Amino acid sequence: MKELLKTIGHVVFKMPVGFVVTIKHLFKKPVTRDYPKHKMPMSPRYRGRHYLERYDDGTERCVCCGLCAAACPADAIYMEPEESDKGERRAQLYEINLLRCIFCGFCEEACPEEAIFLGQEYEFSDDNRNSFLWTKEDMLVPHPRQDNPFKRIIRRVRKVYGIPDKTK
Ligand code: SF4
Ligand code: SF4
Repeated sequence: MKELLKTIGHVVFKMPVGFVVTIKHLFKKPVTRDYPKHKMPMSPRYRGRHYLERYDDGTERCVCCGLCAAACPADAIYMEPEESDKGERRAQLYEINLLRCIFCGFCEEACPEEAIFLGQEYEFSDDNRNSFLWTKEDMLVPHPRQDNPFKRIIRRVRKVYGIPDKTK
């Protein structure tokens, strides 16, 4: 009898208290995001994937000088030079191993040509190790790039680092 009264007491008094807590949370704003539909805005200083810049006529800015590779603490950059049709030096092979990269941004700071920069993108996960060896073709910004969001990203990154924007 005593056990029965105890159970009835739980049902009548304690269970409604629990339900009140649950019902209160039904009307609160959720703290979780519906990713990937709703993405978290990244800080302007966030360093994501790498890009290789071009001049407005489409010429690659990178002259394969190797300074970014020398500055890279993770030894993640490898390149081989070649001469273009115009007789200019450029990278025939330019690779970044993103599994080694620590996204420090030293390559961007070391580049005298403002050729390499780290954008805002962070969605490049994969289950294949080979897909993390990025080549020049993966990183070159598209040309032409009218109405292209990449240009806005470039400007924002340069503003953060105080570098004059020559693309304006
Ligand atoms: S971000 Fe840092 S670790 Fe990554 S490639 Fe550039 S210099 Fe190397
Ligand atoms: S990205 Fe810049 S620092 Fe690196 S090789 Fe090209 S021009 Fe030189």
